[in-house]
Amino acid sequence: MQTATLSTLRELFGDRLQENAPLSGYTSARVGGPADALVFVRSADELAATAARLWEMELPFIILGGGTNVLVGDKGMRGVVIVNRARLVRFDTKSERPSVRAESGATLNTIAQRAARLGLSGMEWAATVPGSLGGAVYGNAGAFDGDIAGNLISVEILHRQRGGEVWPVEKMAYSYRSSLLKRERQPALILAATLELGRGETSAIQAKMKRLSARRRSTQPPGASMGSMFKNPPGDFAGRLIEAAGLKGKRIGNAEISPIHANFFINHGKTSAKDVKGLIDLARKTVEAKFDVRLELEIELVGEWDS
Ligand SMILES: Cc1cc2nc3c(=O)[nH]c(=O)nc-3n(C[C@H](O)[C@H](O)[C@H](O)COP(=O)(O)OP(=O)(O)OC[C@H]3O[C@@H](n4cnc5c(N)ncnc54)[C@H](O)[C@@H]3O)c2cc1C
Repeated sequence: MQTATLSTLRELFGDRLQENAPLSGYTSARVGGPADALVFVRSADELAATAARLWEMELPFIILGGGTNVLVGDKGMRGVVIVNRARLVRFDTKSERPSVRAESGATLNTIAQRAARLGLSGMEWAATVPGSLGGAVYGNAGAFDGDIAGNLISVEILHRQRGGEVWPVEKMAYSYRSSLLKRERQPALILAATLELGRGETSAIQAKMKRLSARRRSTQPPGASMGSMFKNPPGDFAGRLIEAAGLKGKRIGNAEISPIHANFFINHGKTSAKDVKGLIDLARKTVEAKFDVRLELEIELVGEWDS
């Protein structure tokens, strides 16, 4: 990034700016080279204002919530990464149909736990899914018996050309782990979202979350990862196919296809993105050769990559 641009960013963002910051610290896989600049935002208004300035400057940027669904290249990211810490959460417990409006940097776990304490159900599935509401709304996160598409009422969007808009859930055109925003890579950010909830007994809601959490712990490996690497192909499971291809436990450097669940790729420490990508390519190639199935990534590759 040019020195003049960096000076402008310093003036604009002050102590909210970090320069040449390793993205490994902002991703659950703990992998990734430096971003030219990181800007932290702590409210939806700050997020909107920051994005508007960057668009005005025509500086490329991406937004990260929990960084739990991205693999950042070893060369990092040219331009700016907005780190979303806009976390205001407000429940409407009085209406006939209770709901929650949360800023996009709020974690799913916080929303689910707070809802439970208020005797509000419907987010139990989300308590064990890492990451932010924004990431979940963007990628239609889901687990067990729920997904964001099933809870969402509306999304507050900031669109580069059209400004602020409120989209009803239908406009997100959700499909399995995808949305219109994700498919079309629209120049738009999720500022906040409103989710529909139900009513229940706090103890029963918390017991369900505990059960789901135990189920996850018994089937999914611990360690730094991005969760499921590939989407499940129709009628099958990516993990089953990778295991049947004989790749469970396969390692490149410190990256490993988990021996516990073959759709989880684990960073055993100081792993390069290149090694994780090596495993991704190997899994795809082997599964396609053996079963004629082309695995589609669930995670996103972000930043600079050698082609
Ligand atoms: C151990 C583990 C288990 C997991 N289990 C599940 C699971 O059961 N189900 C599931 O669905 N996922 C699962 N995941 C994946 C991940 O938790 C979800 O995809 C999550 O919703 C990503 O949220 P995030 O904030 O981390 O997104 P990030 O990784 O930060 O970002 C992902 C994408 O969303 C975009 N984005 C983020 N915030 C915004 C915003 N405000 N506006 C516009 N775009 C935005 C980013 O630019 C990026 O393109 C798991 C991950 C891990 C590490």
